[in-house]
Amino acid sequence: MSRYDVVVIGAGPAGLSAGALLAKEGRSVCVVEASPWLGGRGVAVPDEGFKINVGGHLVEDSGSGITKVFEHVGKELIHGPASSDMVIWEDGWKSVRDLYSADKTELKRVIDILLETPYEDLDDWDDRTLREWMLQHTRHEGVIALWEFITVLEAITENWWDHSASDNLYTRKMHYSEKRVAGYSFWPGQGWGGMFNDLRDALVEHGGEIRLNTRASRVVIEDGKLQGLAVAQPHVLPNEIFEEEMLEADAVISTLPVWSVLRVVPEQDLPDWYVAQIKHLSRIEFRATWLGVYLATKEPIHALDPRELATWLHTPNLPHAGFFFNQTAMDPTTSPDGTYLYVGGLDIPGEKVRDVKWMLRTQEQFERDLAIMYPGLEHAFWRRRHLVHEPGLGVIQKPNLVGRFRPHWRAPNVEGLYFASDTFRSRGVGVDRAARAGLTVVEDYLGRRLSTFGDGWRY
Ligand SMILES: Cc1cc2nc3c(=O)[nH]c(=O)nc-3n(C[C@H](O)[C@H](O)[C@H](O)COP(=O)(O)OP(=O)(O)OC[C@H]3O[C@@H](n4cnc5c(N)ncnc54)[C@H](O)[C@@H]3O)c2cc1C
Repeated sequence: MSRYDVVVIGAGPAGLSAGALLAKEGRSVCVVEASPWLGGRGVAVPDEGFKINVGGHLVEDSGSGITKVFEHVGKELIHGPASSDMVIWEDGWKSVRDLYSADKTELKRVIDILLETPYEDLDDWDDRTLREWMLQHTRHEGVIALWEFITVLEAITENWWDHSASDNLYTRKMHYSEKRVAGYSFWPGQGWGGMFNDLRDALVEHGGEIRLNTRASRVVIEDGKLQGLAVAQPHVLPNEIFEEEMLEADAVISTLPVWSVLRVVPEQDLPDWYVAQIKHLSRIEFRATWLGVYLATKEPIHALDPRELATWLHTPNLPHAGFFFNQTAMDPTTSPDGTYLYVGGLDIPGEKVRDVKWMLRTQEQFERDLAIMYPGLEHAFWRRRHLVHEPGLGVIQKPNLVGRFRPHWRAPNVEGLYFASDTFRSRGVGVDRAARAGLTVVEDYLGRRLSTFGDGWRY
């Protein structure tokens, strides 16, 4: 039996951030990860000479989140190439700048209002839409469209009535105040794999431990008191059970998403209203889901600029939003010399994954539509199709599904049990959101704020 101050479940960005921060603060910590990889949903894998990402494409931290986590633990998160423009398909390509450039003063006025609004005031907008907030301050269609198109890219909500006000305004305010741009996204300079390796190194250099290929089987709670984490021993039978090693700990931080956390945390030890909140967010229709495709060509393709991010509300023949970008332009090492790797996705309702025939038809039409939008794509020589659902990008950021509507990171009734995840209470985008969730929990556990992060918001 081993004993730690804290055991962390999962070596994605939330678990690695929490683990590295705790080790830096002198706590004995062990991170257990079921898979052989680091990075969780953000993992990058080699594939026939290409490097493709199961998840993460770009990091949306303008400086105060995962970048500061790196700084605190003695590493540097290199901000590599940033996206240069956002182009929109509306029966042809145009830059998002064309929407508002005739009247920049109106945009500036709305930005100033947002910058003057404290982050905490945005919490009151958890149950309302981004457009509702914007209509209080402007009727300028171009200004409204600019923020809504960025939301399609960042939050994968398609319709204006589905864009959460609070979650999206947190990120807009952060990007404007820290980088003076509407939307900031960059490729990690050390690559996606390098980024997670650096966090792992920081954890180990500060005395922390990491166990890969180690599956947490259950959080052990006796009479309401946390005992630690049981991990499964290597097994022979696929259905083996209760052959476990006990890791005793004062605290356990789970980074499992809402849709899998109750496999490891016994729901009998949590209040029913809290369990109900987790189950509600796990509903299939609330999982950000898309049909994706990696394509490679021998010639570069773009609408206006190689480092543009492309988005749309509908393709030539499909009523679904989505994205597309040139990964080689962000990181030439991800495709062999003389080739160009692209990734695109078409947002679909989560419940559509039950209709395989519909998905196949839609995937094929999506690829035909991409070839209309980017004529050079008909000469693509390599393809990798994928479905983003299991795992999903996250819980969709719609009104009533964000902020205070998400389960709190502190388990009610079980002292020492925490949930650090982008699918629990948190703010931001993807990997950065997960890292901030890790930071929030670490500060709560320590009972103090870490000075590197100043007084800024955490979740
Ligand atoms: C296709 C896709 C594209 C995305 N694109 C972006 C993007 O461009 N930018 C961005 O910032 N974010 C993106 N994301 C989201 C980002 O990957 C997630 O927000 C982030 O990985 C969440 O981190 P986490 O640590 O909270 O959880 P996870 O990354 O899910 O990590 C949880 C970890 O727990 C492990 N685990 C599960 N069960 C057990 C168990 N029983 N015992 C031990 N370990 C276990 C898992 O293997 C995993 O490693 C994308 C995600 C997907 C799926």
